[in-house]
Amino acid sequence: MRADVVTIFPAYLEPLGLSLVGKARERGTLEVRTHDLRAWTSDVHRTVDDAPYGGGPGMVMRPEPWDAALTEIAASRPGSRPRVVVPTPAGVPFSQRRAQELAREPWLVFCCGRYEGIDARVVDAWADDEISIGDYVLAGGEVATLVILEAVARLLPGVLGNSASAEDDSFSDGLLEAPVYTRPPVWRGAEVPAVLRSGDHGAVDRWRRAESLRRTLHRRPDLLAAADLSAADRAVLDA
Ligand code: SAM
Repeated sequence: MRADVVTIFPAYLEPLGLSLVGKARERGTLEVRTHDLRAWTSDVHRTVDDAPYGGGPGMVMRPEPWDAALTEIAASRPGSRPRVVVPTPAGVPFSQRRAQELAREPWLVFCCGRYEGIDARVVDAWADDEISIGDYVLAGGEVATLVILEAVARLLPGVLGNSASAEDDSFSDGLLEAPVYTRPPVWRGAEVPAVLRSGDHGAVDRWRRAESLRRTLHRRPDLLAAADLSAADRAVLDA
């Protein structure tokens, strides 16, 4: 996958060189190109913003640098078109399902807004997705892009050591994941559930499914309505 990120703070994206995403880049599974939006300005001050029409506080990002940047980036790979993602609090809520969908794309472009956001006309002209990472307001789209790109990158083939771990993750089957444990078997008097040390894989699977259901019921009951539940699952929830 290729991901282009357009921002006025390229340094904000430096964490994309670390850890799992950094390794995916080293292996060539993911190519990230970060662009400074100001490279597409034409005035001496490299201006990217202006006062909002209709008045009010703050500034709005002008459409021309964005359009010039996106036109040039989109033309950099003839014969294919990127999927353009604009992070915004006004977007659709980001989810594991959306991450899975984006992970199937060969090419993503992220547009990191600042100030009061990007002029709506350029968003209308270019955005395939407007995505919110939550009901709060950040100072810019860079952190939202880091969130989305990390969630997407770990789903790319070969990025996780064991691809089954993405399938077991919370939300992949519509539920929260069961609690996890490692050594020692007893820590501060708290024991690892015996079933996990039993060596009975069937019993472990059943325990995990039941814990996953109970956890979801207590912490995120809203998820259960859309989850694919068997009769055995319903029995666990009714118990
Ligand atoms: N005035 C805008 C509003 O109320 O919707 C907020 C603008 S915010 C200060 C600046 C930029 O941060 C946005 O253009 C967007 O790129 C990013 N941003 C802020 N909160 C976000 C969120 N919850 N999800 C995704 N992007 C966000």
